[in-house]
Amino acid sequence: MSGHTQNLTLAIIKPDAFGSGKIGGVLGVLEEAGFKVRGSRVVRLDDRAAQAFYAVHSERPFFDSLVEFMTSGPCMPLALEHERAVPHLRDVIGATDPAEAKPGTVRALFAESKERNAIHASDSDDNARQELGFFFGHVDLIGAR
Ligand code: GDP
Repeated sequence: MSGHTQNLTLAIIKPDAFGSGKIGGVLGVLEEAGFKVRGSRVVRLDDRAAQAFYAVHSERPFFDSLVEFMTSGPCMPLALEHERAVPHLRDVIGATDPAEAKPGTVRALFAESKERNAIHASDSDDNARQELGFFFGHVDLIGAR
């Protein structure tokens, strides 16, 4: 069975939203959607960290540009809790390209472009576990025991 069962997922408020005063707006949408914040940090990724985080996209034509964007300023990784957290968060953030994102989604509200699209969210339970581990240690995740 391959259903989503995990109640924690990873989001990142990306440098475009972080740098333009949209942290509160993004968090408001996430809280309104029922997510509980179980971990948060402010980090500035360097090239190595951004390349490692997005390693799955290393052969894509936009990879260098994506790494440059993700290292351009601080961002905010979040550990978010909700039932079936991964698919719920994917619904709440909207399509990768804000032009295709449903009204009310984080990307429809706050994204600038397909690349500068305000927020990252894990796309599977396995990736959520791995990406949570990338940014958070066990003791950082409140209530995750
Ligand atoms: P996501 O899961 O919706 O974030 O989308 P993907 O995993 O496909 O892509 C990862 C990130 O790469 C996206 O969130 C965008 O920031 C960026 N990206 C995706 N597709 C494109 C593209 O066609 N052009 C550019 N410049 N960036 C892209």
